[in-house]
Amino acid sequence: MSRDPATGEAPFRNMQNRSHKITLVGAGLTGPLLAISLAQRGFSIQIFERRPDMRLTRASAGRSINLAVSTRGIHALREAGLWDQMSRIIIPMKGRMMHSLAGELTFQPYGKNDTEVINSISRADLNVALMNAAEAQGVTIHFNERCTGMDWITGGARFRNEQSGRETTVNSEVVIGTDGSASALRLDMQRRGRLNFTQEQLDYGYKELTITAGPGGKHVLEPHALHIWPRGAYMLIALPNVDGTFACILFLPFEGRESLAVLDTAEKALHFFEQRFSDAVPLMPQLQENYAVNPTGSMVTVKSAPWHVDGKVLLLGDAAHAIVPFFGQGMNCAFEDCTVFLELLDRLGPDWPQLFQEFEQARKINTDAIADLALENFVEMRDRVADPRFLFRKKVELALEAKYPRHFVPKYAMVTFHRVPYSVALSRGKIQDRLLAELCDPIARVEELDWKKADHLIHRDLIPMESL
Ligand SMILES: Cc1cc2nc3c(=O)[nH]c(=O)nc-3n(C[C@H](O)[C@H](O)[C@H](O)COP(=O)(O)OP(=O)(O)OC[C@H]3O[C@@H](n4cnc5c(N)ncnc54)[C@H](O)[C@@H]3O)c2cc1C
Repeated sequence: MSRDPATGEAPFRNMQNRSHKITLVGAGLTGPLLAISLAQRGFSIQIFERRPDMRLTRASAGRSINLAVSTRGIHALREAGLWDQMSRIIIPMKGRMMHSLAGELTFQPYGKNDTEVINSISRADLNVALMNAAEAQGVTIHFNERCTGMDWITGGARFRNEQSGRETTVNSEVVIGTDGSASALRLDMQRRGRLNFTQEQLDYGYKELTITAGPGGKHVLEPHALHIWPRGAYMLIALPNVDGTFACILFLPFEGRESLAVLDTAEKALHFFEQRFSDAVPLMPQLQENYAVNPTGSMVTVKSAPWHVDGKVLLLGDAAHAIVPFFGQGMNCAFEDCTVFLELLDRLGPDWPQLFQEFEQARKINTDAIADLALENFVEMRDRVADPRFLFRKKVELALEAKYPRHFVPKYAMVTFHRVPYSVALSRGKIQDRLLAELCDPIARVEELDWKKADHLIHRDLIPMESL
């Protein structure tokens, strides 16, 4: 993209866009972020959100879980001028801390050095910060307004007020659905009959739980780690909060011998925790209350196409492509959607039909890839991280990366610390898995690695990252 030599800005950024009115549906994580960048480019933006304003009634802040923000998300936040502000409410996590059944700890770094970290952030704090920043850019957010679909004849978006029941139709140049995995706009596109759609519910659910802070607000576990209690068919994870607490998530099958169906009382849950996560129990004085009160969440992979209609309506973020949370990429991927959308806008201007088409072309292959990678990582997190052979392969991966940094970047790092397309991470990851199996299977220690063979395989099968 050619930039203005005087300002360094993309040419389209300098144009007056006030006459272009855009409606966004959903003020979750992606809606406000996109709104900020569009408002910075001069567009006139309104967001309609189904829920009340979480800043006024914190109880309505929705899911209290923490999210891991990594390179793709950070890039989008930085582009919108928000990352410096966010970095005050994050805690970097350098690796996984595994808790064995006996309570022994094993630390496994995520990356090759201290800059390759993922960052724990409270969903509610991030959402509030994004909404505040959007309003500061002149974006109007209407709360308690549930989108019920489109009037496909006039092109207006239809809303029903959750308090008064009043129905309105809002006209604007385009409508962008950032209304999450159960998107009402997507549902209406389906009803219209032109949308292909698959939805795969995971047979696991989750419960949000809390590890309380120690005396003086201190963390009672290592704060710079994502804690995992891997137990084969299920797991507990904990992410640090800035106030000294940890936000925990228990992932369990819905049905079966050890399942949410069986653990149907807080007493049974406590007994289960005492047997399976005994070192966590003393840190969770509210365990029974949390378990009884917090709803059970479900997880879904959504794939849909096309994401747009007549240059008028576009789906973006989870509304277009929801994934299971095990690679910590749903939001990062949705934020990357914003990056790609804005790059196209800066190149094409508001030629919406062309832009929407190129957007989907650029993203679909990658959002499909991260959906598959996220499902694959579930097995890794709940099961394989406790396997000594898996931990050994991780060591070999880091050794190969240290020797061949241009060719061999571990799959986890490609997804988390780089911005290579997810589809490339998926395909290179498969090749690397094969190489690793070939190199690791015959040996038990890194010192035994056949470097001549490694050199041959790597140069034969992997082109340098910079030539991608
Ligand atoms: C347990 C769990 C852990 C996760 N961990 C991570 C992680 O570590 N890292 C990561 O990157 N991602 C993670 N994710 C995924 C991440 O939460 C989502 O990808 C992200 O929230 C998507 O943002 P979004 O704006 O598209 O949707 P959402 O954040 O869901 O926002 C949608 C908004 O639209 C509103 N809305 C819905 N319907 C309507 C309607 N009809 N009218 C008006 N408004 C409506 C909703 O109220 C909401 O505010 C996790 C998800 C789960 C479930």
